Formats: sequence, C-alpha cells, structure tokens
Amino acid sequence: MNPEDNEKAATMRAMVLEAPGRPLIAASLPVPRPAAGQLLLRVTACGICRTDLHVVDGELTEPKLPLVPGHQIVGRVVAAGSGVDRSAVGQRVGVPWLGGTCGSCEHCRAGRENLCDRAVFTGYRVDGGFAEYCVADARFCFPLPEGYPDLQAAPLLCAGLIGYRSLRLAGNGERLGIYGFGAAAHIVTQVAVWQRRRVFAFTRPGDAVGQAFARRMGACWAGGSFESPPEELDAALIFAPAGELVPAALRAVRKGGVVVCGGIHMSPIPSFSYDLLWGERSLLSVANLTRRDGEEFLNLAPTVPVRSEVTRFSLAQANEALAALREGRLEGAAVLVIDDIQEAAQKQPSRRRGASSGCDELTVFEQS
Ligand SMILES: [Zn+2]
Ligand SMILES: [Zn+2]
Repeated sequence: MNPEDNEKAATMRAMVLEAPGRPLIAASLPVPRPAAGQLLLRVTACGICRTDLHVVDGELTEPKLPLVPGHQIVGRVVAAGSGVDRSAVGQRVGVPWLGGTCGSCEHCRAGRENLCDRAVFTGYRVDGGFAEYCVADARFCFPLPEGYPDLQAAPLLCAGLIGYRSLRLAGNGERLGIYGFGAAAHIVTQVAVWQRRRVFAFTRPGDAVGQAFARRMGACWAGGSFESPPEELDAALIFAPAGELVPAALRAVRKGGVVVCGGIHMSPIPSFSYDLLWGERSLLSVANLTRRDGEEFLNLAPTVPVRSEVTRFSLAQANEALAALREGRLEGAAVLVIDDIQEAAQKQPSRRRGASSGCDELTVFEQS
C-alpha cells in the first residue's frame, strides 16, 4: 500500500459479530495489512449466505470473535503482501468460503481440499467481507468472469459454487428436485436447465411467490415441500436447513436415486423407515468447495449464462438482510453493496431470447 492510501484508509467501516445470537454492530476497525501471501482488497460487494446466518445465530459454534462475517466477497486488489505477484494489484477478484488449506493432510493430498482438517473459512475463522477492506490468501481468490457486475458476481461465490458442487454430486439424472428455493437453487436451476434437465422445485408449503419465482427461473414444476412431484425424481438437492426434508426427498427419488444435502447445518433429521433408503438410494452431504469447483463454475456461468437475481442492501443494513433471509422474504440472493458501484456501466449476460426452459421442453415433448 502506498503511504497516501495508508493515510486515507487507516480505519474502515465494518459490521461485526461480538457474540452469537446478537445483531451485528457497526464498528470502525483498522484496515488489515496483507501478510505474506495475502492480498488486501477494497470490498465492493459481499453476498449473504445462509451459512452467515448459521454463524450469526450460533448454529456454527466456533467462530473467531469478534468476527467480520461474509464469504462471497467481490473486491479490487489494492495491495499485495510479500511473495505475491504485484501484477495482482488493480485486479477484480472473488473470495469464497474456503480461505485456505494446510496442503498436507490426507484430504488435501488426495485432492479433497474441501475436507481439509485445518481449513480456514472466510467470515468464520478469519474476518470476511462485511467491511470496506479485507485480506485474503491470494491462492484462494478467483478471478471473476467479465460481464458480471460486482453485485451480480457476489452470489456466484457460494450460492453458485456450492450449488454447482451439489449438482455435480447428484449425478446426471434428468429429473432433478430442489428443496428450498433461495440463492443456490435459483442459480443451480439455470445450470440444470441448460444441461437439459428438468427441475422440480419444492418451497415452504403455500409459498406461492417462491413457487412462481422457481418457475420463472426455469423449474417445470413447483410445489410445497411435502407434496409428491408428478414424476419420480432421479436426484434431489436440499438447500433448506430442515432435517424433515431428508425423508421427504428420499421418498421422491427413484431406486438408485441420490439425495444431496447442500447446507452446512440442518435441524435434526427425523427417524424414517429403511424402505426410503432401500433400493440403493444414496444420501450425502456437500462440504465446502475445492478451488477446482470454483474454476469450473466461474468458467461455466457466462456460458449458460447464469443470471443472479439479487436484492441489494447497504453495509449498514446487514442485520436487515440477515433477517430477510432468516424469514424467507428474499427472491434469489441478498448482497451488501459496500462501495459505490457504477451499475449503469455494468450489465450481466442476458438470457437468450426464446431460450427454452425445462418446462418448454416438457410441453414440446407432450405435444409430439
Ligand atoms: Zn489439509
Ligand atoms: Zn456460503
């Protein structure tokens, strides 16, 4: 950082968790200094994820305290620590949940860095992006695809990445159920429809607005969580943190089908009859992400193209944004805008006119 920047940016605004279960507090903190291997970012936008809610509400029990949450960070590199290529300065990068790994445990050595025993998680074990600046390990930052404004790029970094990993683990089945239609689901649906799958969306019972949103994103059917879909499913993804969805999803998938739990926390799963698992159905969880997931998904997003639907909040409105997510009042993703963004100059890729949704394909199929 040059001395002039240092002078101007000696302190920064941040929203801070002092203790779980309490609202975040607006604070003025020293701008962090990039250590060896780190970048210092001027944060422009930071997405809000359900995991942030689990941290703030105390369901994830070992946060660093006090903590700056937030792990879908879009920012511009303003300084680099020693050992980092100086050409990084000025670039736009994204910082995800996986903020670092040990590189030497059995999981890291086996290419499963998402399971690293000593992983560092952004906005949980180290400070995240609900602030004007943050530092991040340069090796775990992603370049972001051109064409996504900062606001729309933010949800790609967890909703998109974890959603994509969940979809990959669900296999190649054509009929895909999605339980909980929030930030991850609205992105995964677009990818799945582009892969010529049909998406069956499950929302809170009676959530007509959420069901209409799911159809608009490309789902060919939408209903309440405990309804039976019109056909057996090949696979189901669960993004809502409700354990009772596990037996519901197992009931909806065919023999040999897969149920993937995409969240980091879930309420207890009620006991269920072995019949639901019988028939070689599988049940698995998705934990974190690997950098490969990130590279693959961020390459794919502009090809689909994925469009993220966002509700914008200011940094000071972080508690309101968390409350909206907690109460299921959002369509798509909530994003904190930290810095003024030249939104008029930034347009995300437009969906092709007349591009068919899974629903259209179904109609065509039925008519032929
Ligand atoms: Zn490791
Ligand atoms: Zn997340």
